[in-house]
Amino acid sequence: TARAVPVIQVVSAVVAFGGLRALKGLDLDVARGERLAILGPNGAGKSTLFNVIAGDIRPTEGAVLIEGRDCTFLPSRYRPRLGVVRTYQKARCLDGLTVRENLCLAVAGRRRHQWPLWRSRRDRQLDDAAVAVAEVVWLTDDLGTTAGELSHGQRRQLELGMAMAGDPEVLLLDEPASGLSRGEREQLTELLGSLAGEVTLLLIEHDMDVAFTVAQRVVVMADGEIVAAGDPDQVRSDPVVHEIYLGV
Ligand code: ADP
Ligand code: MG
Repeated sequence: TARAVPVIQVVSAVVAFGGLRALKGLDLDVARGERLAILGPNGAGKSTLFNVIAGDIRPTEGAVLIEGRDCTFLPSRYRPRLGVVRTYQKARCLDGLTVRENLCLAVAGRRRHQWPLWRSRRDRQLDDAAVAVAEVVWLTDDLGTTAGELSHGQRRQLELGMAMAGDPEVLLLDEPASGLSRGEREQLTELLGSLAGEVTLLLIEHDMDVAFTVAQRVVVMADGEIVAAGDPDQVRSDPVVHEIYLGV
């Protein structure tokens, strides 16, 4: 039988910012349903790789394929329709609005083109979808809370919910655990684990515990290249990783 087409293929991607090459001919295949963590020191090119996959940056050379289709020149705003949704290192929810309202906006933004309905019916569907997403990200009890009043961890859950509102096939999370307390990180780790099977997860993460717990495969980047890859145990014991990433 033919091997399934990877859901994401990055092929020989080069990203040059003037003289600096943030990606130096990077190749990466991601299988459907996989949970992949990307590790690496600051400046390794991790966010640049996400920008290329999400279409926020066009590679200088190379290609990006989504489910086998060449999307190198497809603008970022069309990629959610192909199932590729990302979060940013900076939050994008509205502080003055409730969890429910933020999620409604996220659902509406992503599905506008599918909803030629009467307004009242559409609003009900929006609200139902928002409530369903809140459940997925464990915010059912906080539907009426404004985003500004949420704890750090809950806010991260909301951002995750806003991404999930688009029914993603592939979810790109850029450092979701950054700035969280230990308890909040553990909760987020559990939540990300609970999404397994629903989405293909690509995770940039500094926190090793989060990365190694959530991911089935870990890719380590340094200086625009992949320097190590494997399952969490392989990567944890890879001397290259200790040298480059941990500095020991
Ligand atoms: P990481 O996410 O691994 O910390 P980045 O992908 O953000 O790394 O950055 C990789 C390199 O590219 C860094 O040297 C960074 O300064 C540079 N870089 C990233 N974005 C830009 C940009 N828009 N313009 C110029 N240089 C950039
Ligand atoms: Mg980054």
